Amino acid sequence: MRIEIVGHDEAHHGSQFLISYLCDQRVAIDAGGIGELAPLSRQFQIEDVFLTHAHLDHTATLPVFLDNVFNPGPECVRLHGLRATLQVLQQDMFNNRLWPDFIALSTPQNRFLETHELEPERAVTAGHLKLTPVLLRHVIPTVGYLVSDERSTVAFISDTLPTDRIWELARACPNLKAVFLEVSFPNAMTWLAEAAAHLTPDTFRTELAKLGRDVPVVAIHLKPRFRSELEREIHALQLPQIQIGRAGQVFEF
Ligand SMILES: [Zn+2]
Ligand SMILES: [Zn+2]
Repeated sequence: MRIEIVGHDEAHHGSQFLISYLCDQRVAIDAGGIGELAPLSRQFQIEDVFLTHAHLDHTATLPVFLDNVFNPGPECVRLHGLRATLQVLQQDMFNNRLWPDFIALSTPQNRFLETHELEPERAVTAGHLKLTPVLLRHVIPTVGYLVSDERSTVAFISDTLPTDRIWELARACPNLKAVFLEVSFPNAMTWLAEAAAHLTPDTFRTELAKLGRDVPVVAIHLKPRFRSELEREIHALQLPQIQIGRAGQVFEF
């Protein structure tokens, strides 16, 4: 499975300001940055977008992306999210004030998007990939994903406080090949990490211990403002399986 951290490394020194990942080029997890992918043909390749939650760093370029890929006709992008996530988008984004109501504008003849409500722990098939959403612990309803093809499973765990269920399910995957795990604030800002429902390097380490085996781990969702401090604290964990994700980086699992 090919996983890409969407973003521009050259300009941002590895920081990912807006969050999205591409799985085999055609499935996006989150829509923070996909509306900026260049060339535009890369956006046309995306057929399914799976949202973790509604926060703006994960949805910011969704309106632009849908505008970019709209092609008059019945074919359109499928947008998957929890009911709570889709409700926020309908009420706060596609409301004809912030952006046209692409949901109401979609008719069987001309569709901007098709929304699909996710049920926690019910797998959804998108092309050759299968995605299982699993509830995390964030300030609004949020899911992580287990993404599988015929050979591999990769876990995406972001945004969250310490959690258990997704680790239990990840442990049960014999072909788990990698974990992408959030770590947002340095240890000195534990108070803010707790208030904003995120991990620090300390809680990142205790979360990883729940997996009970070594697979490659990619640290993601580092707040750009604290990136160098976070890099120091993550290196100090001295866990060889961990690497720090960089914007634009591509992995093959
Ligand atoms: Zn969030
Ligand atoms: Zn976030």
